[in-house]
Amino acid sequence: MTTQVGNTLFIGAEKPQQCDDCGEIAELRPYGKNGACICFDCAMKDPDETTRNFVAKMLVPIPVAKEARDD
Ligand SMILES: [Zn+2]
Repeated sequence: MTTQVGNTLFIGAEKPQQCDDCGEIAELRPYGKNGACICFDCAMKDPDETTRNFVAKMLVPIPVAKEARDD
């Protein structure tokens, strides 16, 4: 199971579900087009897009201490 503790994301195994792209039952990740949950085989159809979507999911705002801001 994937969980978030504070600003740290722990990626773990997920329960198999139906892939939004091919319909197979497999472990999915939300790295498909427009956040679609896709299986590994579908993720590897376009590794560049999958990588972009993965990175976009990982880019979360990081809180900045008020003392560190310029405003
Ligand atoms: Zn698939």
